[in-house]
Amino acid sequence: MPELRQNFFTKEWVIIATERAKRPEELATHREPEAVPSFVEGCAFCPGNEDKCPDELLRFPANPAEPWAVRVIPNKFAALDSKAQPSRSLQHFRRRVEGFGFHEVIIDGPDHARCMAMLPDAHVANILRVYKERYNLLGMDRRVNHITIFKNHGVSAGASMQHPHSQLIATPVIPSQVRHRLHEALRHYDDVGECMFCHMVEREIQDKTRIVLKSRSFVAMEVYASATPFATHIFPLRHMASFGDISTAETVDLAHTLRTLLAKIHVGLENPDLNFTIRSGPSDYASARHFHWYVSVIPRLTRMAGFELGSGMFINTVLPEAAAEFLRNVRAEKTVGAGGADS
Ligand SMILES: [Zn+2]
Ligand SMILES: [Zn+2]
Repeated sequence: MPELRQNFFTKEWVIIATERAKRPEELATHREPEAVPSFVEGCAFCPGNEDKCPDELLRFPANPAEPWAVRVIPNKFAALDSKAQPSRSLQHFRRRVEGFGFHEVIIDGPDHARCMAMLPDAHVANILRVYKERYNLLGMDRRVNHITIFKNHGVSAGASMQHPHSQLIATPVIPSQVRHRLHEALRHYDDVGECMFCHMVEREIQDKTRIVLKSRSFVAMEVYASATPFATHIFPLRHMASFGDISTAETVDLAHTLRTLLAKIHVGLENPDLNFTIRSGPSDYASARHFHWYVSVIPRLTRMAGFELGSGMFINTVLPEAAAEFLRNVRAEKTVGAGGADS
């Protein structure tokens, strides 16, 4: 029988359509591995082409005599402009803010062919350190009210450059989806007296059925009321409202957890397009007791159709418990350093 499940956090309902249920492996892309070179002459993100990019904001390692491992640049086609001022106006029902904001690109590494699933954990840790540095720096700007760090991997996930990279957008407003979630988390805290995420994570670890992997400081799990197949969240086990508070040891641990999850998806589902985002409380939420940041990984295996657009309710054809079991069993150790077969 199909069932409806409600997301504990967003309160959104999804239909888990077991009648149409697919075995997880049926959703694999069956995409032929593409031979991607490690260096592309015309790629602005490849080493040697730095002059084709806007001026660098940060590089790691910082010493310019060393080859760079991670670089941050302003987005050449930025959605928002850091030179604008976020002045607001309201005319009748038409509210607007000048297009102030930051839109940055984090170039994940010098190798054109190696996506995050194929990078060594230590390199992914360096990317996360760079995320944190930019996140905390831009968060100090009083005009910034929300920062989203995200990755688009593959064309149907929105990637316009093949060279592996991530992005950061800092906005002068709190998006309404985020505001709704913060309100729900605060309401739960006021009603129950505890962080809803800490409670949920504890229960899920006891339950085990939706857990994909667990490390010392993080747990990756399928979402109980997952709107799309294989939607996976990674939660820090320690209560933390802001990604900007992640410790050095936790960064190393998250790098391992995130990289392993991405590698399992890469191998098990044959390199699907995917997005991941870091969902953190706003900049000044560092000590909030009711919110808990996490990473959301969404493989793009299905498309939105009329029902989803009309109702906001999704139909998911893969049981989250089956997706978790499938990912737990994928062996992905061999992906690191296997460059050249990625897209
Ligand atoms: Zn490149
Ligand atoms: Zn918590």
